[in-house]
Amino acid sequence: MADLRDLYQQIIVDHSRSPRNCRVLQGASLSAEGDNPLCGDHVTLYVQMEGERVKDISFQGNGCAISTASASLLTEMLKGKTRAEAEALFESFHDVVTGAPYVEKPGAPALGKLAVFAGVSQFPLRVKCATLVWHTLKAALNQIKEPVSTE
Ligand code: ZN
Repeated sequence: MADLRDLYQQIIVDHSRSPRNCRVLQGASLSAEGDNPLCGDHVTLYVQMEGERVKDISFQGNGCAISTASASLLTEMLKGKTRAEAEALFESFHDVVTGAPYVEKPGAPALGKLAVFAGVSQFPLRVKCATLVWHTLKAALNQIKEPVSTE
Protein backbone atom coordinates (compact mmCIF):
# COMPACT_ATOMS: atom_id res chain seq x y z
CA MET A 1 0.00 0.00 0.00
CA ALA A 2 2.84 2.40 0.88
CA ASP A 3 4.38 1.84 -2.56
CA LEU A 4 1.11 2.60 -4.29
CA ARG A 5 0.75 5.79 -2.25
CA ASP A 6 4.28 6.83 -3.25
CA LEU A 7 3.46 6.26 -6.89
CA TYR A 8 0.26 8.29 -6.59
CA GLN A 9 2.17 11.04 -4.84
CA GLN A 10 4.76 11.08 -7.64
CA ILE A 11 2.13 11.43 -10.35
CA ILE A 12 0.48 14.34 -8.53
CA VAL A 13 3.82 16.08 -7.94
CA ASP A 14 4.84 15.54 -11.58
CA HIS A 15 1.58 16.96 -12.95
CA SER A 16 1.58 19.91 -10.55
CA ARG A 17 5.16 20.84 -11.45
CA SER A 18 4.85 20.26 -15.20
CA PRO A 19 1.16 20.61 -15.99
CA ARG A 20 0.07 19.23 -19.37
CA ASN A 21 -2.04 21.28 -21.79
CA CYS A 22 -1.53 24.43 -19.71
CA ARG A 23 -2.19 27.17 -22.26
CA VAL A 24 -4.95 29.26 -23.81
CA LEU A 25 -6.67 27.24 -26.53
CA GLN A 26 -7.15 29.52 -29.53
CA GLY A 27 -10.52 28.99 -31.17
CA ALA A 28 -11.95 27.02 -28.26
CA SER A 29 -15.70 26.65 -28.76
CA LEU A 30 -16.38 26.35 -25.03
CA SER A 31 -14.77 27.77 -21.92
CA ALA A 32 -15.56 28.30 -18.28
CA GLU A 33 -13.97 29.63 -15.13
CA GLY A 34 -13.88 28.12 -11.69
CA ASP A 35 -12.90 29.37 -8.25
CA ASN A 36 -12.23 27.59 -5.02
CA PRO A 37 -12.09 30.46 -2.53
CA LEU A 38 -11.30 28.18 0.42
CA CYS A 39 -7.90 27.41 -1.05
CA GLY A 40 -7.45 30.23 -3.58
CA ASP A 41 -7.52 27.95 -6.63
CA HIS A 42 -8.57 29.51 -9.91
CA VAL A 43 -8.91 27.74 -13.25
CA THR A 44 -10.02 28.61 -16.77
CA LEU A 45 -10.84 25.64 -18.95
CA TYR A 46 -10.94 25.70 -22.76
CA VAL A 47 -12.67 23.02 -24.80
CA GLN A 48 -12.75 22.55 -28.55
CA MET A 49 -15.55 20.20 -29.51
CA GLU A 50 -15.89 18.37 -32.80
CA GLY A 51 -19.47 17.16 -32.85
CA GLU A 52 -19.93 15.26 -29.58
CA ARG A 53 -16.22 14.65 -29.11
CA VAL A 54 -13.56 16.67 -27.29
CA LYS A 55 -11.09 17.51 -30.03
CA ASP A 56 -8.77 19.55 -27.84
CA ILE A 57 -8.79 20.79 -24.28
CA SER A 58 -6.52 23.00 -22.21
CA PHE A 59 -6.49 25.04 -19.02
CA GLN A 60 -4.83 27.96 -17.34
CA GLY A 61 -4.87 28.78 -13.70
CA ASN A 62 -3.14 29.11 -10.45
CA GLY A 63 -3.74 27.09 -7.39
CA CYS A 64 -2.38 24.41 -5.14
CA ALA A 65 -0.64 21.23 -6.30
CA ILE A 66 -3.84 19.18 -6.09
CA SER A 67 -5.94 21.53 -8.21
CA THR A 68 -3.17 21.94 -10.80
CA ALA A 69 -2.51 18.21 -11.04
CA SER A 70 -6.24 17.53 -11.31
CA ALA A 71 -6.62 20.01 -14.19
CA SER A 72 -3.56 18.59 -15.94
CA LEU A 73 -4.79 14.99 -15.65
CA LEU A 74 -8.31 15.98 -16.70
CA THR A 75 -7.06 17.50 -19.95
CA GLU A 76 -4.88 14.46 -20.58
CA MET A 77 -7.77 12.05 -19.98
CA LEU A 78 -10.50 13.86 -21.88
CA LYS A 79 -8.92 14.50 -25.23
CA GLY A 80 -10.81 12.39 -27.75
CA LYS A 81 -13.59 11.47 -25.31
CA THR A 82 -17.27 12.14 -26.00
CA ARG A 83 -19.40 14.46 -23.89
CA ALA A 84 -21.22 11.45 -22.40
CA GLU A 85 -17.91 9.76 -21.53
CA ALA A 86 -16.67 12.97 -19.90
CA GLU A 87 -19.78 13.19 -17.74
CA ALA A 88 -19.57 9.52 -16.75
CA LEU A 89 -15.90 9.98 -15.87
CA PHE A 90 -16.79 12.93 -13.63
CA GLU A 91 -19.18 10.69 -11.69
CA SER A 92 -16.51 8.01 -11.25
CA PHE A 93 -13.93 10.63 -10.25
CA HIS A 94 -16.34 12.15 -7.74
CA ASP A 95 -16.78 8.73 -6.11
CA VAL A 96 -13.02 8.29 -5.88
CA VAL A 97 -12.29 11.65 -4.24
CA THR A 98 -15.20 11.44 -1.81
CA GLY A 99 -14.29 7.90 -0.80
CA ALA A 100 -17.52 6.37 -2.08
CA PRO A 101 -17.22 2.72 -3.04
CA TYR A 102 -16.11 2.42 -6.63
CA VAL A 103 -18.93 1.30 -8.87
CA GLU A 104 -18.29 1.08 -12.58
CA LYS A 105 -20.63 3.46 -14.40
CA PRO A 106 -22.16 2.25 -17.64
CA GLY A 107 -20.30 3.82 -20.54
CA ALA A 108 -17.61 5.34 -18.31
CA PRO A 109 -14.03 5.11 -19.53
CA ALA A 110 -11.47 3.53 -17.19
CA LEU A 111 -10.30 5.86 -14.46
CA GLY A 112 -6.66 5.29 -15.27
CA LYS A 113 -4.37 7.81 -13.59
CA LEU A 114 -7.34 9.62 -12.04
CA ALA A 115 -7.22 6.92 -9.35
CA VAL A 116 -4.24 8.80 -7.88
CA PHE A 117 -6.69 11.16 -6.22
CA ALA A 118 -8.14 8.44 -3.96
CA GLY A 119 -6.03 9.71 -1.05
CA VAL A 120 -7.74 13.09 -1.26
CA SER A 121 -10.90 11.60 0.29
CA GLN A 122 -9.19 11.74 3.68
CA PHE A 123 -8.87 15.52 3.43
CA PRO A 124 -12.33 17.09 2.95
CA LEU A 125 -10.94 20.54 2.09
CA ARG A 126 -8.79 19.01 -0.64
CA VAL A 127 -11.80 17.37 -2.29
CA LYS A 128 -12.83 20.83 -3.51
CA CYS A 129 -9.34 21.39 -4.94
CA ALA A 130 -9.51 18.10 -6.87
CA THR A 131 -13.05 18.55 -8.17
CA LEU A 132 -12.85 22.27 -9.08
CA VAL A 133 -11.72 21.66 -12.66
CA TRP A 134 -14.40 18.98 -13.11
CA HIS A 135 -17.17 21.34 -12.04
CA THR A 136 -15.64 23.87 -14.41
CA LEU A 137 -15.73 21.29 -17.20
CA LYS A 138 -19.41 20.69 -16.57
CA ALA A 139 -20.06 24.45 -16.76
CA ALA A 140 -18.11 24.67 -20.04
CA LEU A 141 -20.02 21.75 -21.60
CA ASN A 142 -23.31 23.29 -20.50
CA GLN A 143 -22.24 26.78 -21.60
CA ILE A 144 -22.73 28.33 -18.18
CA LYS A 145 -21.24 31.80 -18.24
CA GLU A 146 -21.03 32.67 -14.54
CA PRO A 147 -17.83 31.47 -12.88
CA VAL A 148 -18.20 28.25 -10.93
CA SER A 149 -17.52 28.47 -7.22
CA THR A 150 -16.99 25.53 -4.90
CA GLU A 151 -18.71 27.45 -2.09
ZN1 ZN B 1 -6.43 23.92 -3.62
